[in-house]
Amino acid sequence: MSLLHTYARYDVRFKRGEGARLWDDAGNEYLDFLCGISVSSVGHCHPAVVEAVRSQAARLMHVGNLFYTEPMERLAARLTGLFGGEGGVFFTNSGAEAVEAALKVGRKAKQGGDVITAQGAFHGRTYGALSATPQESKQAPFAPLVPGFRAVETAAIAESVDERTALVLIEPIQGETGVHVISDEVLRSIREACDRHGASLIFDEIQTGLGRTGKVWAHEWSGVVPDAITTAKALGGGLPIGALITGARLRDVFAPGDHGSTFAGGAVVAAAANAALDVLTDPALLARVVSLGQDLRTQLAGLPGARDVRGMGLMCAFDVDGNAPDLVRRALYEQRLVCNATGPATIRLLPPLVIGEAEIEDAVGRLHAVLA
Ligand SMILES: *Cc1c(COP(=O)(O)O)cnc(C)c1O
Repeated sequence: MSLLHTYARYDVRFKRGEGARLWDDAGNEYLDFLCGISVSSVGHCHPAVVEAVRSQAARLMHVGNLFYTEPMERLAARLTGLFGGEGGVFFTNSGAEAVEAALKVGRKAKQGGDVITAQGAFHGRTYGALSATPQESKQAPFAPLVPGFRAVETAAIAESVDERTALVLIEPIQGETGVHVISDEVLRSIREACDRHGASLIFDEIQTGLGRTGKVWAHEWSGVVPDAITTAKALGGGLPIGALITGARLRDVFAPGDHGSTFAGGAVVAAAANAALDVLTDPALLARVVSLGQDLRTQLAGLPGARDVRGMGLMCAFDVDGNAPDLVRRALYEQRLVCNATGPATIRLLPPLVIGEAEIEDAVGRLHAVLA
């Protein structure tokens, strides 16, 4: 095997996908309740995304960021409009790069300042993003990290913000460490502390955004408005694209030459994202995500041994008595259900947002067979 061993991969080769279904190279059909970790929110090979990619690829793929293209300008205007309408967008090729852009804009707005992150956070694997990801196993082998980062228990972040703080970076719902919702009061108190000390508040909505919780952005549930957000994962409908979206306060911080990316905001991925946004911002879909999420959590609570069922919309997790990675492996091989373990006792579900009631019942039935 010629791939470096950064992933413990399952021995499955997928060949085709449609909606919430995947097929492997032996023709077996799977139900996908992971979506490539919240990437394929529109479902696999959504016809509108496929058509957008096909037609844009035949017209123009790349000119770089010294010029404009229509798909990129349209996407930037739409994303800005979805976040208050007074800021601007910096495009990236991934989530971690969107986080890097967020760190840079927050640092430049208050030069020399510290970055405060939450214990249990995950923001990505590049050096800046990794420095904002306070997990010993991920950080220790790669020390020294970027200086000026401080990880604080979520409930203590507000009181930790002071004159030296440049920015607070936080996920409204911690995804990679097991779907932990940050309470509205905590988010509100962090917002107030940032305002008091002239620090930027930036929400990482890479996993929580674009309809996953039943609002376009998860922070809309709290009413707390950050100075910028990061997005990626579901944005490209399956293709790699991310973005930093600022509000008014951080709009004019970057000047020409401050930051860049050769590929970012390319015409094909931007066309795909425009098609994906049509699907993911549809009010009828968002309302369904809320009710389907409630159904899913109600059904999960009835599973043998399932505890602490949690989440918002179609971002769900629950704890089990058994070994979660082992149960997830059995779900895959025995029940052909794709899901994932975020820890030794936690199973996470991130189905496509276009899922139906029958597919939810089907998935819960498959989980029941593994847990019984
Ligand atoms: C996935 C994720 C990232 C990193 O995104 P990549 O595209 O893997 O670089 C950052 N933050 C959060 C909250 C994520 O879920």
